[in-house]
Amino acid sequence: MRIAVFSTRSYDEEFLRPAFDGSGHELVFLSPRLTAETLPLAAGFDAVCVFVQDRLNRGVLEALALAGVRLVALRCAGFNNVDLAAASEFGITVVRVPAYSPYAVAEFTVGLMLALNRKIHRAANRVREWNFALDGLLGFDFHGRTVGIIGTGHIGAGVARIMHGFGCRLVAADIRENPELVALGARYCSHAELFAASDIVTLHCPLVKETFHLISDGAISQMKSGVMLINTSRGAVIDTQAVIEGLKCGQIGSLGIDVYEEEENLFFQDLSNHISQDDMLARLLTFPNVLVTGHQAFFTRDALEKIAWTTRANVDDVAAGRTCPHAIQVDRQAAVKSAKQ
Ligand code: NAD
Repeated sequence: MRIAVFSTRSYDEEFLRPAFDGSGHELVFLSPRLTAETLPLAAGFDAVCVFVQDRLNRGVLEALALAGVRLVALRCAGFNNVDLAAASEFGITVVRVPAYSPYAVAEFTVGLMLALNRKIHRAANRVREWNFALDGLLGFDFHGRTVGIIGTGHIGAGVARIMHGFGCRLVAADIRENPELVALGARYCSHAELFAASDIVTLHCPLVKETFHLISDGAISQMKSGVMLINTSRGAVIDTQAVIEGLKCGQIGSLGIDVYEEEENLFFQDLSNHISQDDMLARLLTFPNVLVTGHQAFFTRDALEKIAWTTRANVDDVAAGRTCPHAIQVDRQAAVKSAKQ
């Protein structure tokens, strides 16, 4: 297959090249995101390989199909950026890389919690200036505190194991219970109960209709005063404006996010010489009790290797006409609904 690899960064090429070595597939690395504007770059390819910031809406997918593209290979787990119903209608197979390293994301999530709680990032900056005062750096013990985990799949379970190791109590919410969490002593409950019980709320559910702005004004008002809120799932699970209000009044004691609902045109690039037009992110960055990172929770050597090799296996399967275990199945009803729109 000829594959156009969109949103390529140096590290993508570094890991994908050896994985596809000797595969017979041809990879062409392109730095732009795949959008309606960059579509012409996909002409002449059998497949596109994309990441979280590429936008595969109905129009883009229809044009890809007309250009002869028959495979979308996501090099990530989440697929909220692909209109699956439209892909199915236009005969395009969509494959992904599920659970490439839940450890990478779970470990980073706990890193955010620790850094925020003990203000490690601020302390390190102080010491560089020979300021050894401790005022303002006071944290709390995790031991004995309650952690609320929303979404207890691969990553949520990883976070649960680590926080259990710290001696935390666990409460959880998911559409299905994970026996591993129950074995750790986690109590499954409603979102409202989880918000009321938790000192730390951490989000590990996918972004779907039901989880869009799950963290709203109403949800925040149900949380403990001074709660720590962590999001390494997808930005729009949080209503950012509501969270800013929660931070301003102190209801939210600290916020750690690796994802942001308007990240699409910001993340994965150096904008340090640009004037920001994003007032919401600019406001977030003014809070001393907010830590923002640029969607890097997945970014370990182990994860990138797994992504590259799973993508190779996915492409091999589709090219050979085999059933790919990582093909995303489409809800037929949704497909019919999308086709009628
Ligand atoms: P997973 O599929 O293993 O787990 C997701 C869990 O969420 C499942 O248990 C599912 O039942 C649950 N869920 C679905 N709908 C829900 C709802 N309405 N309410 C509560 N729970 C619900 O996925 P995972 O590998 O653990 O990844 C979780 C999310 O993390 C992904 O969807 C992705 O968006 C995000 N992610 C982020 C990064 C990063 O670098 N920041 C990297 C990988 C994944």
